[in-house]
Amino acid sequence: MIFPRYRADGHPFVEMNASQQLARQTYLDKVARGEYRLKPLACLCGATTRQAIQIARKERHGLPQDTWMCRQCSLIYLSPYLDQQSLTRFYQEDYRNIYDGAHQPAGLLFQKQRIAGDQIISALRAEPLKNLRVFEIGCGAGGILSQFKSTGCDVSGCDLDQRYVRYGQDQGLTLHLGSFLDLPLKGSYDLILLCEVLEHMPEPALVLRKALNLLSPQGSLYIEVPLCTPHHELAAQLQNAHVWYFDEPTLKAYLETQGLEIDRSVFFTGYFGNFVKRRPSSSLKMRDASIYGPKIRSYYFHELIGMIRRPLSKALRWIGADYFPRLCYREIRRLCYAATKRFQENS
Ligand SMILES: [Zn+2]
Repeated sequence: MIFPRYRADGHPFVEMNASQQLARQTYLDKVARGEYRLKPLACLCGATTRQAIQIARKERHGLPQDTWMCRQCSLIYLSPYLDQQSLTRFYQEDYRNIYDGAHQPAGLLFQKQRIAGDQIISALRAEPLKNLRVFEIGCGAGGILSQFKSTGCDVSGCDLDQRYVRYGQDQGLTLHLGSFLDLPLKGSYDLILLCEVLEHMPEPALVLRKALNLLSPQGSLYIEVPLCTPHHELAAQLQNAHVWYFDEPTLKAYLETQGLEIDRSVFFTGYFGNFVKRRPSSSLKMRDASIYGPKIRSYYFHELIGMIRRPLSKALRWIGADYFPRLCYREIRRLCYAATKRFQENS
């Protein structure tokens, strides 16, 4: 393991209230009793953890979770991970309680999703949107779809959460309860949305293959994932619900192995969305696009900076003089980000 503070000592990186701590203990008890089972997971490029460097042994809530960076393709991922049966139960019983302390009200989620829907529509820049057939995988309460519907699109979606699906149905949306892989869907869609879902799926290839089969010849996928780079603190990002930690090169390379290519990307705070189309051939391998060397060095560099920054900002916060250093740090981070981006574009 490369960073000592990521050892499996049970201490969380984020503040957790009493109900979150209780939910965390419930999860740990289920693992100890064997109700939740873990199985080894290989990287999306096919390499095993033998060809990876271990970067953490816990995630941000202090839950034990082995995290690796693949030496072949530079993707960060979790292994071992919950098997499918355990994962379904985890999302139904523990996920929201650990992450939010309670179940997020469907109405609140719906409003947040409407804002996200407007962002996607303005990024799409397709005129007219009217009559497009749109499907969303993991649609939550359906707020994104409702914005597409208001522009005249024919929309539908699916989600595993019963409360959210029911709320969306009450808003007049066609939402299905259940897994996308199990739904008997027919016909061709012009746009299939995967907003913050790909990173949760241990087997994203199955989902992408089915989505591609449902896509019209000129149709596209919209894939939005959290952007995991050394400029965003790893400790705050690692979570046992995210299996894959994509950045621009790894997502691009993975999609190419699946016969897809990114047509255009849009960046939101901490996230990036991609309009993705079919690719004529899919001969590229993930490791061909690897940036392992510069990426791991960049993580080391940011971790070293953090060893100075964290105690310093704590002390400055304590005396109430942390405004100027925060400004400087933001500027340094911005410059580092621009430099790495230029490096990636040139390599
Ligand atoms: Zn890999």
